[in-house]
Amino acid sequence: MRLSLRNGKNYPPIEIQLENGKKLELEGKIDRADFAQTPEGKYLRIIDYKSSVKNLDLNEIEYGLQLQLFTYLDAMCKQEDFLPAGVLYFSLIDPIIKADQRMTKDEIAEEIRKRFKMQGFVLADVKIIKMMDQTFESGSSNRVPVYLDKEGNISPSRSNCLTKEQFQILQRHIEKTIQKIGMEMTQGKIQPNPYYQLKDQKTPCKYCPYHGICQIDDNFGQITYRYIPNQKKEVILEKLAGERKEESYENKLSRD
Ligand code: SF4
Repeated sequence: MRLSLRNGKNYPPIEIQLENGKKLELEGKIDRADFAQTPEGKYLRIIDYKSSVKNLDLNEIEYGLQLQLFTYLDAMCKQEDFLPAGVLYFSLIDPIIKADQRMTKDEIAEEIRKRFKMQGFVLADVKIIKMMDQTFESGSSNRVPVYLDKEGNISPSRSNCLTKEQFQILQRHIEKTIQKIGMEMTQGKIQPNPYYQLKDQKTPCKYCPYHGICQIDDNFGQITYRYIPNQKKEVILEKLAGERKEESYENKLSRD
């Protein structure tokens, strides 16, 4: 189902209380939210429809980009005690496939379905994954970014799966990032601070028409880029897990 997070709609706006007493209210729309009731609890999967091919990159998430889907997931999990099942992008590009005359209609339909395979992250739980792809037994799923070996176990290196704890770590990281952005905004920090992807040398400044307004001048080296490294998923998750442990330890010390 499609959901709106704003006053008078399905869910209220997401409220984020800042350390300086101010409050952020975030409104948004979830293109599709799926729910599944299980004996362990109610699972939530969020899907965003895209007119291009898009994937979730933990490097970007760590550096404060691609916050939207995890923010929605976090807000809804907190409000309703849902368990995270996945955050995914679904590309709306009409696929063209190569078919020969021997292919049956079902085979062609399956080929088309493969092109609609969603990108993002799902929960590392085979039972939940099979609820998303009901005919999936082993190999690569045509629906979600998961590969199961012959024994039916998730292959971590060929899948984009997160444990429940890893979802929580990312949700907490994003909450902290939004807190930081909120504090900077309310303190009047307005200096341009565009990102620069080291992986493919990509920056929004290259195509942006507002150079004259933000006064950024590439030629005089005045740009303070946020350089986004190209780290492996495991490295990022380990780093964020370490930060979470440190944070819990500091909280415990301040309570004692
Ligand atoms: S040119 Fe200026 S406004 Fe445009 S993306 Fe870069 S920093 Fe932002």
